Amino acid sequence: MQEIAVVGGGPAGLTAALYAARAGHSVTVFEREAAGGQILYSPLVENYPGLPKMSGVQFAEALTAQVEELGVETVSADVEKIERDQNGGWLVRTDDGSVSCRAVILAVGSRHRRLGLPGEEELTGAGISYCAVCDGPFYKGRHVIVVGGGNTALQDAVLLSGICSRVTLVHRRKQLRGEARLAEQVRSLENVELLLGYTPEALLQENGMFSGVRLKNTETGQEQTLPGDGMFIAVGQIPGTAPFAGLADFDEAGWFAVGEDCRSSLPGIFVAGDCRAKGVRQLTTAVGDGAAAGVAAVEYLEEHR
Ligand code: NAP
Repeated sequence: MQEIAVVGGGPAGLTAALYAARAGHSVTVFEREAAGGQILYSPLVENYPGLPKMSGVQFAEALTAQVEELGVETVSADVEKIERDQNGGWLVRTDDGSVSCRAVILAVGSRHRRLGLPGEEELTGAGISYCAVCDGPFYKGRHVIVVGGGNTALQDAVLLSGICSRVTLVHRRKQLRGEARLAEQVRSLENVELLLGYTPEALLQENGMFSGVRLKNTETGQEQTLPGDGMFIAVGQIPGTAPFAGLADFDEAGWFAVGEDCRSSLPGIFVAGDCRAKGVRQLTTAVGDGAAAGVAAVEYLEEHR
């Protein structure tokens, strides 16, 4: 029996494991893909305070090595269900067996919604990005396309307008979904153009790099080609919370409705990182949550010795 099970081996989960292991507790991290989570897809991490530039893969490898050195076990398995065991602890059921533990930290993250167009996956990192904060600086002085009409797309357009020579925001409806204040800001920017009422129909590429998008006017059905150096897709995120219904409340969008203390209302269940309802989803906020959840889980174990 482990003392703490962490579900999700991204920066939040690994940081929670780090804090709990340093406090002397046995920890297992369950991750269905490679340890590191979404940061693995970031070509360059250059906004982590105090660290030199490195790739997302380097960051993930360093953090994984750091927790493994402390004796944390990382297990490659898909957690399917978590239920109470007979000893007042929790049973973590995976596709590869079950493990009992006294506390669980859910750090299951989220994933960016895809457009679902052919070539989207292979062009990710080759002109297509889902994170303007991470990848915007690679497009300094270039023309980029932002897809989406929510707050993320609007914020991305504002951020990119300060880096890129030209930004074209493409949204499928005539009305933007994001806040009026942000929409107004976007409209006031000279190098941002809005293409409202257009859906991306096909991705264009040259020599394996994104080169533009074919758009369709939703009213007339007419198609046009929009060339671009890069495309930022901001059409929402999908929380990874669904298999864990009942362990923490959800908000209306499906995120865990758990505050900054990372404590759920159930004893021994903690929530950390992007899967939690929050305003900023960044590497730094994920590790901040990991620390809070790790400390909270350690306190819980000590209170319930
Ligand atoms: P969102 O609000 O769900 O917006 C997603 C946008 O993508 C919508 O405009 C949607 O179009 C469009 N879309 C969805 N699927 C599409 C598809 N297949 N093709 C083309 N367009 C598609 O997502 P978000 O902008 O990531 O924001 C998520 C949440 O975080 C929201 O609650 C948002 O308010 C919040 N947030 C807040 C801030 C802030 O500063 N307050 C910043 C960022 C995010 P439709 O409009 O037609 O549905």
